[in-house]
Amino acid sequence: MALDTTILLVEDEPAILDLLEFTLAPKGYGIKRAMDAATALDIVRQALPDLMILDWMLPGESGVQLARALRNDARTKGMPIIMLTARAEEADKISGLDAGADDYMTKPFSPRELVARVNALLRRRAPEHADEPIVYGPLTVDPARHEARVGGKALEMGATEFKLLRFLTAHPERVFSRAQLLDQVWGDHTFIEERTVDVHILRLRKALAAQSAEDLVQTVRGAGYRLSRSSADN
Ligand code: CA
Repeated sequence: MALDTTILLVEDEPAILDLLEFTLAPKGYGIKRAMDAATALDIVRQALPDLMILDWMLPGESGVQLARALRNDARTKGMPIIMLTARAEEADKISGLDAGADDYMTKPFSPRELVARVNALLRRRAPEHADEPIVYGPLTVDPARHEARVGGKALEMGATEFKLLRFLTAHPERVFSRAQLLDQVWGDHTFIEERTVDVHILRLRKALAAQSAEDLVQTVRGAGYRLSRSSADN
């Protein structure tokens, strides 16, 4: 189960695009498709996917050029990328990894291997998408049971607060701006107002307050929010 995880497939061969989608969609991933780099960039501009599977040889801008462009942009530099190519030469593999791909697969690929690599990369780079419970101090976020607990006591919260908490717990001690949280938790930084984040942070703190744990979610003035057990700056 990975209902909140979106994968963008960038591949110009329709048969391979279909194979990728038919392999990943039944695993619960949300799928978006692009057949060239420009379309892929348009999709990324609207909503940040959680992972990208990127073909090397595309009409127009190549997959390597696109990977490099994504890595040079602060908003997209952390996006997990699996590079896909028909070419198996070692030199190509190295330039793909140089361009910023996290992993590399040669066509033809086995669907089972693809799923395993996607899962491994998400675990490594985006632990908020894994199914295993995430533990931070007294806090446990259990995605499979859709439950958050403090000291073993279940908290009551809405679906958005749960997603927000799941993301923050997967990346403790890191400060996220409102725009970053919109991108990562809502999947949309363009059409939702930043004030929305504040509203849900407030609700999340209220839910945590039931177990006196509201201080875990901290405001970092001028920067955003973070989950931390250390005392707040302000
Ligand atoms: Ca191709």
